[in-house]
Amino acid sequence: MGGINGQALQGLRETLRGPVAVAGDPGYEEARRVYNAMIDRRPAAIAGCVDVADVRTVLAFAKDTGLELAVRGGGHSGPGLCVLDDGITLDLTPMRWVHVDPATRTARVGGGSRQGDLDHAAHAFGLATPTGTISTTGIGGLTLGGGHGHLTRRYGLSIDNLLSADVVLADGTYVTASQHEHPDLFWALRGGGGNFGVVTTFTFRLHPVDTVGVALTLWPVDHTREVLQWYREFLPAAPETLSGFFALLTVPPVPPFPEQIHGRKVCGVVWCFTGDLDGDRLEETLTVVDEPGPPAFHFTTPMPYPSLQSMFDGLMPKGLQWYWRGDFFDAITDEAIAVHEKFGPNLPTGLTTMHLYPVDGAARRVDSDDTAWAYRDAVWSGVIAGIDPEPANAGLIRQWSVDYWTDLHPHSMGGAYINFLGENETAGRVEGTYRDHYDRLAAVKETYDPHNFFRANQNIPPAVS
Ligand code: FAD
Repeated sequence: MGGINGQALQGLRETLRGPVAVAGDPGYEEARRVYNAMIDRRPAAIAGCVDVADVRTVLAFAKDTGLELAVRGGGHSGPGLCVLDDGITLDLTPMRWVHVDPATRTARVGGGSRQGDLDHAAHAFGLATPTGTISTTGIGGLTLGGGHGHLTRRYGLSIDNLLSADVVLADGTYVTASQHEHPDLFWALRGGGGNFGVVTTFTFRLHPVDTVGVALTLWPVDHTREVLQWYREFLPAAPETLSGFFALLTVPPVPPFPEQIHGRKVCGVVWCFTGDLDGDRLEETLTVVDEPGPPAFHFTTPMPYPSLQSMFDGLMPKGLQWYWRGDFFDAITDEAIAVHEKFGPNLPTGLTTMHLYPVDGAARRVDSDDTAWAYRDAVWSGVIAGIDPEPANAGLIRQWSVDYWTDLHPHSMGGAYINFLGENETAGRVEGTYRDHYDRLAAVKETYDPHNFFRANQNIPPAVS
């Protein structure tokens, strides 16, 4: 019975509409697995919630039994924050639903939904809102941490498009947080992570985004200096209809890449253009990609927005080993470029990568105090991600990521996107990420979760009042 009193477990099973899995149950092994296969934890129970009533039941059960609680959205966090050895996982996976209202251009999204669920439902109306770049990522953790992706330069972070959130608090109270109701909670939810309650519904503003222009440009890795020196000037000056994240990568052996470059180490940019697609405006905008040197590959195509969002899903299935670390950058200095030049040619495995995601444009125009996100002055959110299918390479990719990060960190702004913190980073990293918002977050935590019931997250303990 996984350490839980049999009678209590029976009561939970009878009360919940969602499935409950404990060790020995047929679904337990699959239910305990998260996206990152480096995480191998054995919760005492995984309790699926279909609605708010189920969420309240699981919270009460955790309190009654004294089991430590973790909340699962999409299960994508690098450190596996949604599973604890001998704890209970409140699993929102059954709450995968999206209701789009095309008249008001809004979407109500269940707390366990994936990005792809939202992209799919909104695309039917030619609408979308900013999320991340892999469609299987959970809307829950992504949004509560901030959320950046292809639409961020044009429409801001995911949190900049969040209109309200329905939340079950630590004491079981059910509230709606918005600019008008519980504005302190709403402020904290927009970047403060899973610290404040279980969000059962997110309501987002949508934008007219339908078919987008997509381009991939790759240069030999020994052009990294020229490409980054060009990219750091070109992108921030480009219209906000253009986004492009920079990457160091190994060319995967799949179309549309020509065979002669398969397996080559390269640097590149993945472009997304939301401007006018008539008359090849993307081609025109990107004629400059020759400036840092001739690309090894350049490909442009119009694409339905959800296809771009899921373009890399196949390369990154659940079950790979992952270790990542991040930092924000307001500039790509020559010193930082020297670090990228050192590590880019030595990517230790075929999937290991480094990305610089633009967070300027619309995201940068939001006032710093409007949300908990504390790096409105950043231009890029960087992540170094060691990735490989082979468990034997876990140590290798971890060490490589830490070494790269250690060299690069002095050239960063000092804090990282909360969703790009790796496992076993120090408490100081969370504070560094929230800068002068940290004390305000701790005060909101004290109001809404004074006993730190929600602590399986990048934790902000309650302020000591
Ligand atoms: P989970 O592990 O389920 O949850 C993460 C945290 O959020 C936990 O603390 C959990 O308790 C909490 N949480 C989740 N849902 C809820 C909820 N409904 N209510 C309360 N708390 C909740 N981020 C970007 O911004 N842009 C990207 O392009 C991007 N790309 C990524 C690509 C990959 C392949 C991966 C693995 C991650 C990527 N991320 C990106 C990071 C991603 O935003 C985080 O990993 C995020 O935490 C994932 O959320 P989740 O709900 O899937 O994770």
